[in-house]
Amino acid sequence: MDCIFCKIVKGEIPCTKVYEDVDVLAFLDVNPVSLGHCLVIPKQHSENIFDISENVLQKIIVVGKRIVEKLKTVTNIPAVNLVNSSGKDAGQEVMHFHLHIVPRRENDGLKIHGEKPKNLQKPSEQELQKLAELIKF
Ligand code: AMP
Ligand code: ZN
Repeated sequence: MDCIFCKIVKGEIPCTKVYEDVDVLAFLDVNPVSLGHCLVIPKQHSENIFDISENVLQKIIVVGKRIVEKLKTVTNIPAVNLVNSSGKDAGQEVMHFHLHIVPRRENDGLKIHGEKPKNLQKPSEQELQKLAELIKF
């Protein structure tokens, strides 16, 4: 499979590693949006949130938290975004699951959630209730 993150896992493409264990790898994003921007990935290929196992996902979020703690200790970041884009319509470009750890600083100007479209339609209270009923588990 021609997956860039699988190649990083196999050592065929270099990365600046910050953490590794049997299931999880974390490295600096090659095109950081802020100083300390890291990616946490499963070593075994999963495309995104739709197919990753809960077991591996738990490991990834724990590693993400530990990286945040390190960043806080080392660079004293006041804030952080943990971001995952799953699917092309959500802006996912590399189709191997990854959790972005994005350190945030006061007035850094980053727009992680993007601008809301001007014609954003607010769902009705009835629609929201109906959907919540269907989702509930
Ligand atoms: P996304 O848009 O959520 O799929 O993000 C993909 C991320 O992977 C981007 O932030 C890229 O800068 C990053 N990226 C792509 N190739 C590499 C690489 N070889 N090493 C490190 N980060 C990479
Ligand atoms: Zn892969």
